[in-house]
Parts: sequence; C-alpha cells; structure tokens
Amino acid sequence: MATRWETARSVWLEDERSGQFELAESAGLGAVDWRGGAAGRAADVAHLLGASLPAACAHSLIYPEGFAFCPECGKALARPAAPPRPEWWGAGVGEALPKHVPQGLPVTALALAAGLESRAAALAPKPDLALPAAPNAICVFAAANFGFAVQRLLALAYTRNVLQYWDPVARLWHVMAPQEGAASLQFATADYGWLPAVASTRPGDVAIVPAATGLVRLLIDPVGETYRTEPVFDGVLASAPGATRRQIACLVAGAAGTCLWTASPDGADPEVLLCEREGDAGGSGPIPAGGWSRPLYYDGKLIWLHDAGHLVWLPGAPPQWLAWPDGWAPRLNFGGPVQSRDGRLWLIGHDGQAYSFLELGVARGQIEAIAGARLGFGTLLYRRGHPVLNDPWDTETVEDQSENESLVLPLLQNFNGVRNQPAGLVLRFEHYTGRVESALDSLVIQKTSVEWIGQRNVRLDDIIRLARPAECQPFVYDNCLWLHHPDWNRIRGWRLKAVS
Ligand SMILES: [Zn+2]
Repeated sequence: MATRWETARSVWLEDERSGQFELAESAGLGAVDWRGGAAGRAADVAHLLGASLPAACAHSLIYPEGFAFCPECGKALARPAAPPRPEWWGAGVGEALPKHVPQGLPVTALALAAGLESRAAALAPKPDLALPAAPNAICVFAAANFGFAVQRLLALAYTRNVLQYWDPVARLWHVMAPQEGAASLQFATADYGWLPAVASTRPGDVAIVPAATGLVRLLIDPVGETYRTEPVFDGVLASAPGATRRQIACLVAGAAGTCLWTASPDGADPEVLLCEREGDAGGSGPIPAGGWSRPLYYDGKLIWLHDAGHLVWLPGAPPQWLAWPDGWAPRLNFGGPVQSRDGRLWLIGHDGQAYSFLELGVARGQIEAIAGARLGFGTLLYRRGHPVLNDPWDTETVEDQSENESLVLPLLQNFNGVRNQPAGLVLRFEHYTGRVESALDSLVIQKTSVEWIGQRNVRLDDIIRLARPAECQPFVYDNCLWLHHPDWNRIRGWRLKAVS
C-alpha cells in the first residue's frame, strides 16, 4: 500500500512498509519513469524538482517538494537551493546582445572580465577546476534551467545522436535515452546551430534543433533520463536554423533546389521562399544543399556563409544568393565576419594573390586589401600576435615586438562596448611563424597559452601539443568559464567570482 501526497506540481507515493517516496507525476514530465531511488540519483532529482532530502535520518532517499520534516520521525529535512545562474547556449546564441552586435558570432555579453582579470599572475598558470569530458566529445553545450529549479548542463553529440546530461551531484555524465518515436538528433549537413527555448516555461524544453527528419523541438526528462522530440518542420535541411526578432528560418531542400523555410517562433504559419540569384547571372551553379555556416543575424538580416557565396535574407524580401567574386575564396575557418567602425560586416578571403576583406550582405561588396592573414571575428581581431584595433584592414597595434613570433587565435569575445579595448579568450601559439592555414589544420602546435585579453591580460593555462585549435570550445556553466577540446579527457575550468 502507498500513501498519496500531492504538491503544487507533483504527485508522490509513500510506500507504507519501506517509508520510501517515489515520484508518480510531475507537471510537464509526461509519464514519470522513476529512477530517483536508483543509487545516486535521488540528490540530483531533489535539486531539479526543488524536493527535500534527508538530513538527520534515513527514512527515505527523497521527500516531496516543500516537506520540512520527515513524516516518519519528525526530524528536519534539507531543502536544496541554488542561486540563479546565467544561461549558456553557445556564445551569442539566445543572449540579449545590443542591436549593433551581430548575433551568432562567438560574442557574449556575460560579465566574465571582472572575475578573470582579478586573478593573480602566476608563473605556471593552471585551471581551478576540471570536469570529465563527456563520453561523446564532439558536442555542443547548453547550461540552463530548462524549466526546473536548478541549472543543468547538457552536451549534445550531434554527429552521433547522443544527448548527454551532467549530474553535478554524482559528478557523472548520463546518456539520455530517446523516448519512443524521438527523431534522430544527428546533423552533419552543415555547421551545427540550434534555437534555444529561452522564454519557454515548459519543463524540459531545450531548443528547436536540426534533426534527420527536419527541425524538431527537443524536450528532456532528467528524472527518467530520457528525451523526446516534437516536429516543427518535416523535410530535408540544408543548414542550421536561425532567428530574426519575429521569425525562425532555415535553408531547406525544395523541388526547385535550396530554398528558405520560415515560420513564427513556435513553428506556426510556415512559408517556403524561393531564393533569388543576384550578381552571378546564374553562372555559378546551384545554391548549395549543405556546408553552410551557422547563420548570423545582424541589421535585420539573416546571413548564411558558404565556401561558394552567401545567402542573405531580409524578412519581407526574397532571400538572395550572392556568389563570391570570381577567384576570391573565403577563409571561413579564420574566425568569422568582422565589423568595421561604420558597422558593416566583412569576411576575410584570398584572391590567389593576396588576402582581402569583402563587404558582406550586398552584391558586388567593397573589397579592402590587406598584407597578411588575420584571425578573429566581431571586433576581436589579430594579425599574428598583435591586435588590430579600429578598422579590420588597419595596421595592427604593436605593443611588444616579440609577439611577431606568435600567432593569436580568438575563441570568444566578451562584449564590453569599448571598441579599442576588446576583451575575450584567445589562444596564443608561441614561437609559431608558419602559415596560418597550417596552424588551424592538423599540424601539432608545441606550445599554446590560453589567455584572457582585456584591461589586464591574464595567462590562464599552457597547453603542450595542440592540434585543430579552432575546435576549442569555451562555455559558461556554474559560475565558471570552461574550455573543451574533443581530444582532451578533461574540460578545463576557471572560476568567475564576479558573475552572480
Ligand atoms: Zn526520518
């Protein structure tokens, strides 16, 4: 026999013989697959639901939300609480950035600088903390409450269709099982991107994600360690989705080639738009069906970049395919679009003779010649070891001649509103004078330092032997800045004391 206890959100059953509570229902979770009694899960589940835990007795592993005393013995219970944390969906994704900052670049407005810049200088810097890498290490991270009482970290391994959940109480990654009928979350057609469910109040709502069947809404049940999907668009995707202020959109395969699907943020009122071809007189082949970068949203327009050209959509007008000028090849792996002082976006490329910046978003964009490769995005840009302030094609600012022999790769810009004082996380390859393209490829770089750039530059760690450095992925979770690379078995972490 079991006694039934109802709380505002859940129904619990208390086994009369053992005194153990089990969760029977909880709002938004669907059918509850109770695993809270399994070794080690009760504490995490209590945090998620805001339920109570034993403190001075052992009559049950968990108690319903709001219970202050054990019904068996009357002893006080622990009621776990966690302070709110800023959410993370990837830099610049789902964040409220100022209008003049492009969305979709690795630019975050979270307050990272104060905590990192107040660190003492160290001769041999090292991370404060480590997380074990998720078992499937090619992944994207999201840290949010997902409608629950505390923030949790997810790692979606999109090349393998594996969704991983970090249980910080047990310090373990759990692989979440798909519920019956869930779509495959595998997506390798283009760079990965998702549309976070930032404003959702549904428990478990994660994001609209690209899937094998089209676009789907991803919902998790961390109590049962499962996930499910709901269809948003059924079809074949050509790119990751993007969002304007009022609509979502994605490049999809249509009968007449690649076209643009768009709908309201909830997927209602869908529409498929044919793409117009401007500036290439139809001579450059079909609009690509894959290989697109994650889209940017800037100045009211969504922009997808590709090795062959870019696609620009201003809602209300037809999407436009703009091929690159003849002979000009972009360097998409150098970082991303950069911003000039007048606000325009530019992309670095090479015309066979020299590097140059090409103006984005317009047919026959302006070209600015430069003498050598530059790495970065937004307004965080470097030529070798020197920052480029002002316009992206301006001469670099040399503060230290010895940095001629290093190469800096920006990973994350921390938006601070001061153009001439960019801040962010970079990798510095020391004594590297080889080609920039080789450093980004499979070459093993002997010595790299992880550095915070800002009002004060702080060396955070040294990495011996690093390959494919652009696969380094920073993220923010639990008051720390973390750095992940698929080759590492530990994720490096630095505390952000000032983030509240
Ligand atoms: Zn008790």
